[in-house]
Amino acid sequence: MIIDKHNRIHNYLRISLTDNCNLRCFYCMPDADYSFMPSSQLMQADEINQIASTFISLGTNKIRLTGGEPLVRKDADTIIKNLSAFPIKLSLTTNGVRLHDFIDTIREARITSVNISLDTLQANKFQLVTKRNNFKRVWDNIQLLLENNIHVKVNVVVMKGINDGEINEFIEWTKHTPVHIRFIEFMPFTGNRWMDDKVFTWQDILGTIETQYSWIKLKDETNDTTKKYIVPRHKGTFAVISTITSPFCSTCNRMRLTADGKMKNCLFSKDETDLLSALRKGEDIVPLILGNVKEKAAERGGQFVKDFHQLQAVGIENRSMIAIGG
Ligand code: SAM
Ligand code: SF4
Repeated sequence: MIIDKHNRIHNYLRISLTDNCNLRCFYCMPDADYSFMPSSQLMQADEINQIASTFISLGTNKIRLTGGEPLVRKDADTIIKNLSAFPIKLSLTTNGVRLHDFIDTIREARITSVNISLDTLQANKFQLVTKRNNFKRVWDNIQLLLENNIHVKVNVVVMKGINDGEINEFIEWTKHTPVHIRFIEFMPFTGNRWMDDKVFTWQDILGTIETQYSWIKLKDETNDTTKKYIVPRHKGTFAVISTITSPFCSTCNRMRLTADGKMKNCLFSKDETDLLSALRKGEDIVPLILGNVKEKAAERGGQFVKDFHQLQAVGIENRSMIAIGG
């Protein structure tokens, strides 16, 4: 069992397959001078399998593939198929651009739910946020998943003055469509020019929804990062991820592996443990995994202050989101 000094059992691993991406979301990808990791530095498919297998032997029962964009990796198909042979719940977070090429793989791997990022329902704003003209492709791929009875969770990073005006359009989408919309508070990472005045808080989000809809609170699961809601009679649901104003760290069960094989015990941890180099040297990675989690800070990597308006984002020691794996 993987357990930290605060007695939290860790059984959920998020594996980043690459820091590369076919979109350029300004809140995620640092400026143009960012150099992607060379492929020799990335965990290879067999190494991902070996590391995953070690985590599973220690009690991990859920793995999510992420990135960067996991589906731009040439061997993503092999990696998904390999991992689907383990007795775990396998899932995926993607920007949706390449999903149509992976629908058979997703079905064969028995993945029943996919998280897709979509911050706007307007094609021109999509281009503004991602610097790519792929709105229709992502939209069509969401429909493709729904047609295949795969549950779709839509991640929306809400930023003041950018897409906060669209919150109720996302809620309207849930009226006839069984999608689950997850509104995420904008978080600070290296190079993403986070500003406290761009944060649209959980309370702001609910307040906006209340101007047009009434909602009912749904029950959250023990390790959920989300607070879930439904508008009565709507087919879909929605949730808020309030990392900035109301973190959910006390029940955290998450561990992360960057594409270059470094383990992080928190999205905001500054310390990393190099599992890939140890594996390549033939060393036992079990003590490294256990030791990494043991030292997990109680909350948000120990790097945040309570009042986010006082937060000095440049002082947070971390990677950019694209290099961590969200
Ligand atoms: N490329 C995939 C995607 O976009 O879904 C997977 C990786 S992405 C880093 C994972 C999630 O992190 C996405 O839902 C994205 O919106 C979210 N994310 C990235 N930067 C963020 C930030 N600064 N604050 C909040 N969420 C962020
Ligand atoms: Fe790429 Fe996802 Fe980051 Fe957007 S949020 S740049 S799609 S990794």
